[in-house]
Amino acid sequence: MPIDARYDQHNVFARILRGEIPSDRVYEDLDFVAFRDIQPAAPVHIVLVPRGEPPTSSATLREADAEWVGRMVLVAARIAAEQGLAERGYRLVMNCGDDAGQTVGHLHLHLLGGGPLGPVA
Ligand code: AMP
Repeated sequence: MPIDARYDQHNVFARILRGEIPSDRVYEDLDFVAFRDIQPAAPVHIVLVPRGEPPTSSATLREADAEWVGRMVLVAARIAAEQGLAERGYRLVMNCGDDAGQTVGHLHLHLLGGGPLGPVA
């Protein structure tokens, strides 16, 4: 994963990955960690984050990132199935920038489900 010059090593997800802040982890492998969102926006709200120093958002992704970003979506689908969300459905959200309300500059994917989610916007 290329290092984004704007990456802040003290962002909350970096601190969670280093174990400096506790998290309710539901999944981890060599490349990704998933944990429950501290302010859930749905009955099930999980955040999936790449380990290391990924781009801060989708805006700084490059062609070379395509493979691991694809795997991240597959991992999210796997977690959704493990959480029992596959049958009724779920939503994957990747916020980018201020207008989307992105608060953490470490690219991540939200997994939302567990009940009707309403319109996407
Ligand atoms: P975003 O708004 O897309 O940047 O998403 C950041 C998410 O991280 C928000 O939904 C926050 O509620 C969540 N969050 C912030 N701090 C923590 C934490 N310590 N543990 C779990 N989730 C967190």
